Amino acid sequence: MHITTASPTPTHCPYCALQCGMGLAQDPGRDGGLAVVERAFPVNRGALCGKGRTATEVLSSRVRLTEPLIRTHATGRLEPATWEEALDRIAEGLSRTRAEHGPDAVGVFGGGGLTNEKAYGLGKFARVVLGTSQIDYNGRFCMSSAAAAHQRAFGLDRGLPFPLEDIPQTGCVILVGSNLAETMPPALRYLTELRENGGTLIVVDPRRTRTAEQADLHLAPRPGTDLALALGLLHLVVAEGRTDEAYIRERTSGWAQARAGAMAHWPELVERITGVSVPELREAVRLFCAPENAMVLTARGPEQQSKGTDTVGAWINLVLATGRAGRPLSGYGCLTGQGNGQGGREHGQKADQLPGYRKLTDPAARAHVAEVWGVDPESLPGPGRSAYELLDALGGDVRSLLLMGSNPVVSAPRAAHVEGRLRSLDFLAVADVVLSETAALADVVLPVTQWAEETGTTTNLEGRVLLRRRAITPPDGVRTDLFVLHELAARLGVEKGFPTDPEEVFEELRRASAGGPADYSGITYRRLAEEDGVFWPCPAQAGTDGASGDGEDSGLDATPDDPASDPADDPEGVPAGDPTSGLPGDPTSELPGDPTSELPGDPTSGLPGDPTSGLPGDPASGLPGEPSGELPGEGGEFVSAGVHPGTPRLFLDRFATEDGRARFVPVTHRAAAEEPDAEFPVLLTTGRVVAQYQSGAQTRRVAELNAAAPGPFVELHPQLAARIGVADGEDVTVVSRRGTAVAPAKVTRTIRPDTVFMPFHWAGEGRANTLTHPALDPVSRMPEFKVCAVRLERTASA
Ligand code: SF4
Repeated sequence: MHITTASPTPTHCPYCALQCGMGLAQDPGRDGGLAVVERAFPVNRGALCGKGRTATEVLSSRVRLTEPLIRTHATGRLEPATWEEALDRIAEGLSRTRAEHGPDAVGVFGGGGLTNEKAYGLGKFARVVLGTSQIDYNGRFCMSSAAAAHQRAFGLDRGLPFPLEDIPQTGCVILVGSNLAETMPPALRYLTELRENGGTLIVVDPRRTRTAEQADLHLAPRPGTDLALALGLLHLVVAEGRTDEAYIRERTSGWAQARAGAMAHWPELVERITGVSVPELREAVRLFCAPENAMVLTARGPEQQSKGTDTVGAWINLVLATGRAGRPLSGYGCLTGQGNGQGGREHGQKADQLPGYRKLTDPAARAHVAEVWGVDPESLPGPGRSAYELLDALGGDVRSLLLMGSNPVVSAPRAAHVEGRLRSLDFLAVADVVLSETAALADVVLPVTQWAEETGTTTNLEGRVLLRRRAITPPDGVRTDLFVLHELAARLGVEKGFPTDPEEVFEELRRASAGGPADYSGITYRRLAEEDGVFWPCPAQAGTDGASGDGEDSGLDATPDDPASDPADDPEGVPAGDPTSGLPGDPTSELPGDPTSELPGDPTSGLPGDPTSGLPGDPASGLPGEPSGELPGEGGEFVSAGVHPGTPRLFLDRFATEDGRARFVPVTHRAAAEEPDAEFPVLLTTGRVVAQYQSGAQTRRVAELNAAAPGPFVELHPQLAARIGVADGEDVTVVSRRGTAVAPAKVTRTIRPDTVFMPFHWAGEGRANTLTHPALDPVSRMPEFKVCAVRLERTASA
């Protein structure tokens, strides 16, 4: 390896959705030659967690992949191969399935860690090259319930519709199902500053986590009852006369039905369902309603449930009834988890979606994107299966799979079943940086570049589009994901339209997103480099195509000897498109949608209205998008004639619904898909620990992180431990209807006596997702990771 720049390269952490800013400096004394250095970036202000500090270690890891692997018939093992051989084999495998079983027999599975360019390229590859509808990604397992609830209530999904810097200035935050102290440690300071400023913090979590320790009030509901808790709080808000009637009248619709649903959940009933006492409910309402401004922030706790969309909707109803959404320093937001969880859901790797967060079933959206792609709109497939449904169909309707940036053997619910489905495929190709548990099952494994070896953009949990820059040349034998798509497209008969230069892909993404809900058309690499991030929506202003210097290559990824670039790549193969044409919502088109789909965005799903109308950021819409200059960060500093400043805060004037009003959605509590019974009497909930990230594919290979968190554990209350006769540190067996897991007991009073917790970062006998339930939310198709019934047994000694 050699360093391509002498001074520290400004970039961002490869892991979570905070996307902390960092610098990468040349340091010959370190293994791999790169050192992480502090740099000023407003989100993390120089702070990094242990994962970010050690992120360079995976670049030079002994176990990273540096040559393609092909499973040979002779040995049945993965053996080294050339890139030509590996790509030919994949093209042949996918082609054969398509010829024998049709295009929908080929599946594509992406990831929320892929850059915007890769997510865009993967979605285009699936629909244009393979012609398959069967594409989804692991982000479905992350924040899809919050995204669907956002769409229903506000007409637009951006995880946080305000920047993180607003949090310390509000009066009260209810943090629901988020353990920021472990998942995003640098973000904890926003809560610390909130309390230093006199604000209050309420944490809702079945466990007394390190984050809950910081709270003024900790509510510990039974897993799976967050919806009832929110309804109980709304009941009290109404009963105590704390609703904002003027706001409800002027800025919302649907209050009467939502109010009726809440009034059916009186406090004593909610206490029985949730285990949260009536005095605690009253105290929460008092703290939340006392200040002028307040926020509710949710994360995976309420979202990863088979009623996740309604659960988030219940919390949004609380925010709306108290007049807190679409106002400065107030509102509802989702703390997205994966590194590009926000951008990854905007650019077309979802089963139901086209770039720019457009609906795949919207005829005008199809026409616009098809024009950019240079294809017939009629040729674009309709919506496919959601992530779990796609994995469940492997070996059945779906015979071959191309997978990038995901490790479902560890991260999918009912993981042993999913592993079996993967093994039953006719053909599996995986692109990854290490031989993950999923890659180990593949017929072909492609070694691809990592974050610091390639340039690309991500979009953090605030909707801030960021530039990750290449700081080091990848090892010989490694190629980029964009190169893989380019080469496979060519082998499958599509010679043009899949450039390997990320900036070229981004330029096309800008055109494809223009006029859509997530409009990136005014954002360029040059702007991202100069401004250190731009919030979408950011439309190109009339008479321009973006920012100053637009149209010129920024040169950010220019490396003449780049082995991952393809000199034959032809940018002229990308149709020009028209950023001002093809606006969504054309009611005159007669292109059919998929009448069977229940995915959000399907016009037949019964979801109200058309969220693509009245787009924020549209200069003509009157929606926020213009800087008011009244709030810190409003509009950024790069505001010049003809350049849209980006949109840090949404909905200040109107929501992105047809009538500009936020929608109350009537919701009611319902039981989890699997409640405890005599055979499985204990609740299981799952989550993360600070030293590991997601399926652990990268972080389990970092010595410091592995030493800090070497394996799974079963967290349980002393009462429960005594009942089954297990001591702290002894192995305990956890059994659900899906399988069995074994891990050491961690006995603690910080968890409810009726609940056990397992982190999900590991494979093998301690794999938490062996146990989890694949019941799906009917709107978002989110699996029920956060609650299922188990029994505990002492593990027999060997
Ligand atoms: Fe920041 Fe998340 Fe990276 Fe930690 S893992 S340094 S919190 S981006």
